[in-house]
Amino acid sequence: VRKNSEGTEVRREADLRNLVSDDWVPKNWDISHELGTGNFSEVKLGIEVKEGKKYAMKIIDKKKFLQFQHKRGSVLSLNDEADMMKSLSHPNIVTCRTWFQTEAHMYIALELVEGGDLLKNLLEDGCFQEVQAARIFLMICNAVSYLHERQLVHRDLKPENILLTSKDRETMVAKLADFGLARQNLKSRDCRTFCGTPHYFAPEVITTFTDTNTKAGYGKEVDMWSLGVILYILLSSTPPFEEEGLYNQIVEGRYEFDVQEWTCVSPEAKELVQQMMTVSPSKRINIQQALNHPWLKFVRFTPTPMRSGAGFE
Ligand code: ATP
Repeated sequence: VRKNSEGTEVRREADLRNLVSDDWVPKNWDISHELGTGNFSEVKLGIEVKEGKKYAMKIIDKKKFLQFQHKRGSVLSLNDEADMMKSLSHPNIVTCRTWFQTEAHMYIALELVEGGDLLKNLLEDGCFQEVQAARIFLMICNAVSYLHERQLVHRDLKPENILLTSKDRETMVAKLADFGLARQNLKSRDCRTFCGTPHYFAPEVITTFTDTNTKAGYGKEVDMWSLGVILYILLSSTPPFEEEGLYNQIVEGRYEFDVQEWTCVSPEAKELVQQMMTVSPSKRINIQQALNHPWLKFVRFTPTPMRSGAGFE
């Protein structure tokens, strides 16, 4: 750890664990076509030469990443995302096989998830039927429960970060990805870095950063709010807030169920959305309470053949 020009502590940039040479990479990994791109990274198909197994290889441009982190004054080191993913093991979280780095790039070999992301699925096929929504949402909640038990907050829950194993809504398994913003649940300054995606921001994330006098940090409750927004979208395929005046709508908790898509949805599902999208973090439902909500309990105890390996208890 060292101090930058403002005196803020930053992690040493040259964390050179798992450093390999540029020639080592093609000898050990057959990296081919692109699967997707991120802000500072591209994700490509990677086959481990020795075992012939396929992975999604996330290749991060270290320089771009560090420039962004520096601007944001963040203490998150480049290796944090990889370390975090490597330490996690849950059927609804994308696992990390290994990671290594060259001078210029960081390579993270991730479990390959081939059904696209939840946003793409919603855009292509519209909203989920209630039973299908509950099945997928339960998997996402199980993943979040696993993180929260370990005092980890994802902080960037959104449909783009939920990958699916197939396009078939009856059998697909959801896997939580992208831990670039995940952080220990510390009530400290660095946990209040203003990041994430505006539509899924919890009200306290916005107020903390628009009101510089606010001292409070934010914790697991921000994930619960984002889960509420995700469930709203799953059931209606419309976002709860409009683009114009977005922050005010979020801070005031101004969203409605009077759009046509909600007319056939059960009152239990609406109640769960409301309990998660409650403006006051202290009154917001936590992940255990959500898992015990009647709407999710119903799916949990309905036996169906597609359950095995899907992450249900
Ligand atoms: P950054 O971390 O640079 O901000 P990002 O978070 O947007 O980028 P990711 O979400 O990790 O980047 O990945 C970008 C895209 O790559 C995803 O939208 C998806 O299409 C693809 N992708 C990521 N992980 C996997 C995976 N495990 N299996 C298959 N495709 C993946």
